[in-house]
Amino acid sequence: MPAMHYVQARGILSARNGMNLYRGCQHGCIYCDSRSACYQFSHPFEEIEVKQNALTLLDDALRRRRKPCMIGTGSMSDPYMPLERELRYTRGALEILARHGFGAALLTKSPDVLDDLPLLRAIHEQSRCVVQMTLTTCDEALCRRLEPHVAATHARFEALKALHEAGIPTVVWICPILPFLNDTEENINGLLDYCQQAGVWGVVTFGMGMTLREGSREYYYRQLDRLFP
Ligand code: SF4
Repeated sequence: MPAMHYVQARGILSARNGMNLYRGCQHGCIYCDSRSACYQFSHPFEEIEVKQNALTLLDDALRRRRKPCMIGTGSMSDPYMPLERELRYTRGALEILARHGFGAALLTKSPDVLDDLPLLRAIHEQSRCVVQMTLTTCDEALCRRLEPHVAATHARFEALKALHEAGIPTVVWICPILPFLNDTEENINGLLDYCQQAGVWGVVTFGMGMTLREGSREYYYRQLDRLFP
């Protein structure tokens, strides 16, 4: 069992209808902004905090809503990190969205999203479901260094194709673009080729670089020293 602990959360939906069922992430991306000090983690980022009452809170919150809308997840913690295979909180949340007629916008780097394909289709048929997947590099050796515990880029590409074939709209985030690491024309063109072949609806990018906020900046620089001396 990975390092984890449970907490009782006071709320689950943000003002912009986002939710994070977990805090912290097992994927280990060296550039991750979510480990920044401003998010005030009181535990190691790799130790996952599980909001034990998240599904009850979500069910209550949606029951009180008059109009359905899209509910997003994945901005602070990957909803399909390995722990999800054991706990299935993301699946539970999708079941609640489906039951109340709400849409879903998921952001992940994991092909495990396909485990929930029947649910994604059910949500998409009655409202809307969009899967967003991050791609950073076509160079799989570089991918292993930047994102050590995530599926290879090619596996994410295959997942995007499978989602497209299943009728689920997809969007790719090409970010972050890191100076001297994945910022070559060859790499960006390769990622765009993947997007085209996988029939994605849109590409999101935030230009060059990363936030380099306190906490994530020191971690990133340490990993650069270790991996790219
Ligand atoms: S998958 Fe996202 S949240 Fe998880 S470590 Fe990578 S960048 Fe951070």
